[in-house]
Amino acid sequence: MEDHHLENTLIFQTSDARQTEDLGERIGRALGPGLVVALFGELGAGKTTFTKGLARGLGSSDLVHSPTFNLIHEHRGRTPIYHFDLYRLKSSVELEDLGYEEYFYGEGVSIIEWPEKCLGLLPADHIEIRISGQDDSRTFDLRATGPCSMQILRSIKE
Ligand code: ADP
Ligand code: MG
Repeated sequence: MEDHHLENTLIFQTSDARQTEDLGERIGRALGPGLVVALFGELGAGKTTFTKGLARGLGSSDLVHSPTFNLIHEHRGRTPIYHFDLYRLKSSVELEDLGYEEYFYGEGVSIIEWPEKCLGLLPADHIEIRISGQDDSRTFDLRATGPCSMQILRSIKE
C-alpha cells in the first residue's frame, strides 16, 4: 500500500472504507499524547471513516461518528481523544470560547476535520493528512511539520 516516502512525508492508498479504517488503526497505534492530526479533504473524502480507525488504534472501542452539531466529541482511549469537526465553525472565536488550547496543547490526541477553519491556531508541530481520490480509491498524504510528528511518521514506516 505504501508508494514511497521522503523524510517528512508518507503516502498510502486505500480502495475501500474498510482499508481506510485499518490504515487509521495502524496510524492510531503510533500516536501519542499531545499530538494533533489535521485531516484535510472534501465532504465524503473519508475523514470520519479514517478517524474511526485512529480511535481504534488509540484503544477506544467507542462508535465514532460525525460530530456535526458538536464541534468536538471526546473519547477515552490510551489517551483522551478529541475529535473535532469544524465544518460548521463560523469563526475561530468559537474555538477560543471552547478553550481549544486545553485540547491542542493537552495530554490527549486531537483529530481535526476541516482544519482549514483553524489554521492559525494549530500547533506548529502536527501531522497533516490530505485525503483525495475518486470512486472508492483514496490517497493519504501524510506530512510531518516538526520533530514530534516526524518521529511518529518514522515509527509508522517501520
Ligand atoms: P468525510 O468525513 O470526509 O466527509 P466520511 O468518512 O464520512 O467522509 O465518508 C466517506 C464515504 O466514502 C463513506 O460513505 C465511505 O463508505 C465512502 N468510501 C468509499 N471508498 C472509501 C475509501 N477508500 N475510504 C474511505 N471512505 C470510502
Ligand atoms: Mg466527517
